[in-house]
Amino acid sequence: MRNFNLNLKKMVRLRGVPIALTATVLATSLTGCGKKAECDISGSHAHLYTNEEGYEAYYNKEYLTYDGYERQEDYIPLTEEEVALYKFLDKKDLISLEDNLDVILAEQEQNTDYIEYRYSYKRRIPMRVGKVTTFRTVTRYSWTSDPNHINLTGETRLCHYVYQACNVYKDENGKYVVIPSECVDDIGDLVGDYTYVKKVFYKVINLENNLELDYEDGQDPNEEVSKSNATTQSYTTNSVEYAEGPKLVKNY
Ligand SMILES: [Zn+2]
Repeated sequence: MRNFNLNLKKMVRLRGVPIALTATVLATSLTGCGKKAECDISGSHAHLYTNEEGYEAYYNKEYLTYDGYERQEDYIPLTEEEVALYKFLDKKDLISLEDNLDVILAEQEQNTDYIEYRYSYKRRIPMRVGKVTTFRTVTRYSWTSDPNHINLTGETRLCHYVYQACNVYKDENGKYVVIPSECVDDIGDLVGDYTYVKKVFYKVINLENNLELDYEDGQDPNEEVSKSNATTQSYTTNSVEYAEGPKLVKNY
């Protein structure tokens, strides 16, 4: 496909058509396999891609946009081995911790602990008795960050953000493997020892049992769930006193 692009570009150039046109021609002729950019760089390389939030990744790709990231002109040459590594990083959704440290720290700054409240709701469950379907009402439970939610049970939990980075090693068979770090409260502690982070590099745990948040029977299906809900009731970590440091569970 790449040779085809270059040939078409050459052809258009010869005919004296402005080069800008070729991008449009290529983009429309390649629908179905993503819009490709033109590239004259010879040899294996990875282009810098950035997304709206400022995250950076390098992909051995020529797509104009890839996984929400936009292709930039900057690139790094890759050895054959590095091509395999960058493909692996792509497959595992890994980006460089150091390259993205500023945005990661900014995002961490936004992630303040918050309280969730347990609530109950009723569900009607169909039951078939012979040929007759009847309904039974059962009580279900979930958690909300809205302190004024109806049917609160009075139970609360403290939701806490933890962070994880990882390294990539080759195993004895020459296959790349991901070795994750412990979960930590401050991702800055992992800089230097760890090279990569997952694109989603944090998770929220329940500080009581250090497990990832579960929502028991799930959100009330009759309820409109607002996504911003989770952060509106937050408070800063300064006002939280931990009797002991949280014991974290590795869950990668
Ligand atoms: Zn290129």
